[in-house]
Amino acid sequence: MRAMLKGIAASDGVACGRVYRFVEPDLRVKRRSITNLDYELNRFHQALEAAVSEVETIKTRATKNLGADSAQVFSAHIEMLQDPEFIGAIETQIKTEHINAEVALAGVAATYETKLKALTSTYMQERVSDLHDVTKRLTAHLLGVRLPDLALLKEPVVVVTHDLIPSDTVSVDAKYILGFVTDLGGRTSHSSILARSLNIPAVVGTQSATTELQEGATVIVNGSRGTVISEPTKPELAMAKQAMQDRTANMKRLATLRHHTTTSQDGMGVVLAANVGTVNDLPNILQNGAEAIGLMRTEFLYMDSDQLPTEDEQFVAYRRVVQSLAPRPVVIRTLDIGGDKPLPYLKQKPEANPFLGARAIRQSLAHQNIFRSQLRALLRASAFGNLRIMFPMIATLDELRQAKAIYDDERTKLTAAKVPMGKVKVGMMVEVPAAAMLADRFAQEVDFMSIGTNDLIGYTMAADRTNQDVGYLYQPYHPAILRLVDRIITAGHAAGIPVAMCGEMAGDPIAVPLLLGMGLDEFSMGAGSILRTRQLISQLNAKELQSLVETVLNSASTSQEVVTMVQAAVPDVLNQTD
Ligand code: PEP
Ligand code: MG
Repeated sequence: MRAMLKGIAASDGVACGRVYRFVEPDLRVKRRSITNLDYELNRFHQALEAAVSEVETIKTRATKNLGADSAQVFSAHIEMLQDPEFIGAIETQIKTEHINAEVALAGVAATYETKLKALTSTYMQERVSDLHDVTKRLTAHLLGVRLPDLALLKEPVVVVTHDLIPSDTVSVDAKYILGFVTDLGGRTSHSSILARSLNIPAVVGTQSATTELQEGATVIVNGSRGTVISEPTKPELAMAKQAMQDRTANMKRLATLRHHTTTSQDGMGVVLAANVGTVNDLPNILQNGAEAIGLMRTEFLYMDSDQLPTEDEQFVAYRRVVQSLAPRPVVIRTLDIGGDKPLPYLKQKPEANPFLGARAIRQSLAHQNIFRSQLRALLRASAFGNLRIMFPMIATLDELRQAKAIYDDERTKLTAAKVPMGKVKVGMMVEVPAAAMLADRFAQEVDFMSIGTNDLIGYTMAADRTNQDVGYLYQPYHPAILRLVDRIITAGHAAGIPVAMCGEMAGDPIAVPLLLGMGLDEFSMGAGSILRTRQLISQLNAKELQSLVETVLNSASTSQEVVTMVQAAVPDVLNQTD
């Protein structure tokens, strides 16, 4: 059925392909009386076999993408699916109660869950989530419904989903994903950030994609305009194919800039860095010409698992990142959980306003054992390259001083234990308006600052970055935001420290001329935006843009006025965005 959807343009480019609905199916089961027991037992065993073979495939994909350690969870699933006791208990239920396999499974799973929950060991508690996964998969096979899993993709598709969480995508092979379309989310939600870092066109926040787009339908996703057309006409398809070809050609052209440094037309050098989520992003960012890593979000290390990563697991991941980039700098941010990134196994109290609650550095200071283990892993990794550590969500000097004191304490202990470490710069994110206003004071106590506009915009405009209903208020070019950004850069430079930006605004073509004019030292963004931004900067005159900044800061009152002023000053800029 033909449908046209409008959403938020989340990741540039046009994609055309068939819909793969990544939507949880209805797995409710109904009790049936069984007369042919052999038939039912046979059906159960067929489902078991199919489930095992499916998990094997997922495990192979996860091992390839994430390494054997991360794929271990799938071995546990296979073990459970082959456990004679578990299987025997379900068979007994079927035989004694004459009930269908899915209901017998539900009953046995419930008994197992009660038993596991009664045990105090964390290991056993963690098996509960394995049990849930296994029960879900087996039930789906018994009901004959497909449990969608991105790790099982065998051909390129457009993924249509309610929303994506990081763990959905850990074992995905990006070559099978042509585009993303979601019901929820905004430009800075994690699905968008992920799509941009993989260079995959995406439209988010359509509200109705999962209700309107049918499995297998042909769709055109325009991630630059935020539109999705299902069952397009022939001329629309032809236009989309042309746009895809143009984009491929443009990407080829841009690839020639991969090994260049980044310099404005008048010779001002800046650093173009990449934001990364996991070690899997490394090949992609190097291919896209990143000069540094300006932000590694360590949350993914914690979220992609169902327990806290050990110090050693973290050390291995950090070392790999630092080593791969050496001697180029790598900024690794300490844990930023809470807000839109909850950590289920930490069992946080429900909060009315999670974005204003216990997140990021507040959590780290409250759970010092977690913070200290992360800092130790980071310090040990520092021996292998050029590491910078950054604290998220700093609101007060007191928080910064506490975080630094804990860092110093761990460093002193490791020095005493003769653990090799490199020189480490310690910085902070400026993403809370209070810190932006007081940036001059903070700048005296850190080695660098990085502006987190994703949150800074949300907090300044009092608009939740993930809520489409207030999305119209989430305005990166709002003069209030620009004044704060300029204030932070000026304060950093007055104190003699570099200022970076790692929020999504750093790769935004309208914002780049302004940031260059303000003297931003480092622009850190999703890998997919780096080469385009390098080309853009090479066409801009940083000195001339200083007067544009002055005019904008002094006279613009609305975002629209800012856009008009930028467009008038650098008319070519918008041509770069399509
Ligand atoms: C930001 O807030 O701009 C930022 C980079 O951090 P995150 O998107 O992870 O909150
Ligand atoms: Mg943030």
